[in-house]
Amino acid sequence: MVDMADFHVDIGPQYEGEVVRKEDMHVEFGGPKAKAKFELVTLKSMDEVEHEKVEIIGPDIKDMAEGSTSSIALLVDIAGEELEKDMEPVIERRFHMYMNNIEGIYHMNQRNDIWIRLNKESFKKGLNSLKEVGDMLIFLYTSELMAIEKISITFVTDEAKVQELLADAMKIYAARDERLKGLKEEDVEEFYGCVLCQSFAPTHVCVVTPERIANCGAINWFDGRAAYKLDPEGPIFGVEKGECVDEVRGEYTGVNQNSMERSLGEFDQVYLHSAFEHPHTSCGCFQSICFYIPEVDAFGIVHRDFSGPTVIGESFTRMAGTTSGGRQVEGSLGMALEYLRSPKFIQGDGGMYRIVWMPKEVKERYQECIPADLFDKIATEDDVTNADELTAFLEKVGHPWVKGEVELP
Ligand code: SF4
Ligand code: ZN
Repeated sequence: MVDMADFHVDIGPQYEGEVVRKEDMHVEFGGPKAKAKFELVTLKSMDEVEHEKVEIIGPDIKDMAEGSTSSIALLVDIAGEELEKDMEPVIERRFHMYMNNIEGIYHMNQRNDIWIRLNKESFKKGLNSLKEVGDMLIFLYTSELMAIEKISITFVTDEAKVQELLADAMKIYAARDERLKGLKEEDVEEFYGCVLCQSFAPTHVCVVTPERIANCGAINWFDGRAAYKLDPEGPIFGVEKGECVDEVRGEYTGVNQNSMERSLGEFDQVYLHSAFEHPHTSCGCFQSICFYIPEVDAFGIVHRDFSGPTVIGESFTRMAGTTSGGRQVEGSLGMALEYLRSPKFIQGDGGMYRIVWMPKEVKERYQECIPADLFDKIATEDDVTNADELTAFLEKVGHPWVKGEVELP
C-alpha cells in the first residue's frame, strides 16, 4: 500500500495553480526543448497489470543535471472490471490535475505536447526520484477513481526509446480522434463540459460537442461521455443541449445556461463556432490560436510548436498571453488543432474559407480538411512575413475571401 506519510513533499489541490518558473526549476521533462514526450493510459486485463509497480527506463531525476531537459514517456497501465476502453483518454487527462496536485511539480498540455517541471525546493526536500512521483500518482488515482483496481506506471527517459514508443502513441491518438467522423451536434441530446482548467483560468468552461473537441485536444465528445460515466462528481459533466438559438454560430440555450453557472455569472452567452461577439473561452492549454488579421479581415492559425513570429508579427507565446485566462476574447480563439476537421469549424465567420495563413506544418498535417481549391491560396511562413506581403499574396493567388466570393451565413 502506498501511504501519504512516505512522501517527501505534500499533495493537495492548493498546489494546482502553482507555476514553476525557469529560475526555480530543478529539471524539466518534455516541453519545447525535448525531442520526444507523451503520456498514454492503456486499459489491460487484470492479470496483465502488476498493481502499484513503478518502473523507470533511463536516467532518474537524481542522475540529471540541474536545469536540464529530458524526453519522457509516461505510460500508465490500468485494469478494473468496470473500466472501459473509452475511459482511457479521460484517465489520461487526469495527469494534468494530479501532477499539479504535487507540491513543486508543474504539468502543462497533454498527449505528445506535455511539459513537466520540478522545482528546486521540492528536490531539496528529497523528491529526487520518478519512483516517488509514480507512487504519488498511483496514490491519487486509486484514492479518487474507485474503478481502477490495478495500476502500474512506467517512466521512460531514454530518448531513443521515447521516440520509438511515440510512433505507436500517435497512432492511438489518431484512432481516438477518428471515431467522431460523421457524428453531428444535431444527432445528440447532450454535450459535455469540463472545468479542469479553472485552477489556472477560473472562469473557463470547455464545451465539448461531436463537432467541437475541447481546447486541449484531449477530450472529444466520446471522452466526455466516458468521463461523466466514470466519475459523475468529477470535473467533466453533462450539458443539456437545450434549444438551438443560432444554428450557424452554434448557440444553444443549455450551453448558455451551463456557462453562466459554471463561470459564476461571468458570461451567459457562447457561440461554439464563431470567434466574434461571444466566442468560446480559452484557458491556457489550447493547442492553437485562431487569430484575426484586421488588414485582410480574415484569420490565421498558429499552433504551440511554431516558435517564430506569425504573419502579424507576434509569436504563439505572446498571443497565448492575451488569449488565455478564461475570458471571451473576440478575434482570438484558443482551440484544438483537431477542430480544423470539424465541418462546423468557425462556421459563423465563414469557416475554412476565411483562413488566410497557417504554419506549413499545420497545413500539411491537415491537408485533407482544407478544400482543394483553397489549399494553395492559404499562405505560410514560407510565402509571407507580414500583413502587407500577405495582402499582396492573397490578391495574387485570388484567395476566395479577398475576391469576395465567400458569403457569410
Ligand atoms: Fe478540460 Fe478544457 Fe482544460 Fe481540456 S482544456 S482539461 S477539456 S477545461
Ligand atoms: Zn487548460
